[in-house]
Amino acid sequence: MAPIQKECDYLVLGIGSGGIASGRRAAKYGAKVIAIESKRMGGTCVNVGCVPKKVTWNAAAISETFRDAKSYGFGGFETSKITFDWPLFKGKRDAYVKRLNGIYENNLNKDHIEHIAGRASFVGKDEVEVKMHDGNTTRIRAKNILVATGGRPKMPEIPGIEYAIDSDGFFDLEQQPKTIATCGAGYIGVEMTGMLHSLGTETHFFIRGQKLLRSFDPLIQDTVTKEYERQGINLYKGSEIQSIEKLDNGLKRVHYKTLETGEMSSVDVECVLFAVGRVPEIEDLHVKELGMNLNERGHIIVDEYQNTSLENVYAIGDVCDRGFELTPVAIAAGRRLSDRLFGGKKDAKLEYNNIPSVVFAHPEIGSIGLTEPQARKQYGDENIKIYKTSFTAMYYAMMEPEDKGPTAYKIICAGPDEKVVGLHILGVGSSEILQGFGVAIKMGATKKDFDNCVAIHPVSAEELVTMT
Ligand SMILES: Cc1cc2nc3c(=O)[nH]c(=O)nc-3n(C[C@H](O)[C@H](O)[C@H](O)COP(=O)(O)OP(=O)(O)OC[C@H]3O[C@@H](n4cnc5c(N)ncnc54)[C@H](O)[C@@H]3O)c2cc1C
Repeated sequence: MAPIQKECDYLVLGIGSGGIASGRRAAKYGAKVIAIESKRMGGTCVNVGCVPKKVTWNAAAISETFRDAKSYGFGGFETSKITFDWPLFKGKRDAYVKRLNGIYENNLNKDHIEHIAGRASFVGKDEVEVKMHDGNTTRIRAKNILVATGGRPKMPEIPGIEYAIDSDGFFDLEQQPKTIATCGAGYIGVEMTGMLHSLGTETHFFIRGQKLLRSFDPLIQDTVTKEYERQGINLYKGSEIQSIEKLDNGLKRVHYKTLETGEMSSVDVECVLFAVGRVPEIEDLHVKELGMNLNERGHIIVDEYQNTSLENVYAIGDVCDRGFELTPVAIAAGRRLSDRLFGGKKDAKLEYNNIPSVVFAHPEIGSIGLTEPQARKQYGDENIKIYKTSFTAMYYAMMEPEDKGPTAYKIICAGPDEKVVGLHILGVGSSEILQGFGVAIKMGATKKDFDNCVAIHPVSAEELVTMT
């Protein structure tokens, strides 16, 4: 084993959303920080997650606007003649991501954080060995170590899986597929299928259950499932892809089973995409060998202060077991951890409740707090009051009935003062609407507080403060 070559106060493993936020906050307090990254600066969010996803979603939203424009009287163009230059778009998107990689690197330099390109493994409770990309190895001893190594997509073990791509591969596609089979009812599957469909790809969407987004409130599940079918996405409910075969013409033949009947069928597509969940990135770290406690899915078990079972070793973000795999959660947990370790704020910690989250579906979805089943279980049926509404947003006023999309809102209240314990919204603009309502709910807003806010007219969100 190489001798110790470097020492520091804080060693950050993984320069993704959480790692960089925590490392920079620690450096601002004067800690000597070293950070290790095995791939690209910025982690999942910047390279294969939120950022390229949202840019693609914007492209999809623009294509929807083209379609809607006719209803508002715009002419002089044929919708069928509108083209989308995927390679040009991909090139620009990649360049944008690369610019962000550079900004991350500059920020580390500005904060005097030494960063090493390589793959880290623990060799002791306070020692890490890094296999550097230049072929050398270095060994670092640290007073505190942060594991912020995130996760990676999971793939099923089925024959022909080598012909399929995962969500990382979605961002590598050089050409827009004319046809695609997608699989996975979670938010990444829903988002990617929706974007591809809006951009004109013929989508075949396979889900094992009957509804999309099964961890969301039933109103959201029902509405988004119906809406995806209305839009013309071929939804194969209760189905499972069993194998993939590559045909001589380059297409992939997807063999799938209808779970209820056991019947086998197939469909030929250009591309097959699985978005069936993510696993924590821990194998190379060798933390299990050191006795670190992991849950049954391999996530690092942490307490409310992000402490792992090993002294002076902490974990944040997707690699730990807190359940919210979102960029702002990793950032907030990382910053508070550094506040506690280096900033003298000994009680600093992230509260893992009422965390707003959004799905960039078509239309968008926003959710915070408890779902209706969770609220009923936690408070009892008699203590829950539900307010809900479904309506057609004014955006669709000029459109034919068959072109109008849904809007659906639900407010879940608990107790005699009707404290808002859950809010679930689907419709145009939901991602932007939710942030402000998130503040109110975090502050403990009641239904009366919602009602006391004078409505803004005419917007969809006014329904949230006028519901009876
Ligand atoms: C397709 C997709 C869309 C998403 N959209 C959103 C969204 O819209 N909004 C949102 O909030 N979240 C979104 N997320 C989730 C979000 O990207 C993650 O929750 C977030 O990036 C987690 O941050 P992290 O710091 O825990 O890990 P990451 O950002 O994944 O960073 C971990 C880093 O550690 C590095 N690493 C791993 N092992 C080692 C090792 N042994 N040595 C050195 N380095 C290592 C990795 O290369 C990686 O760069 C999305 C995710 C995906 C996949």
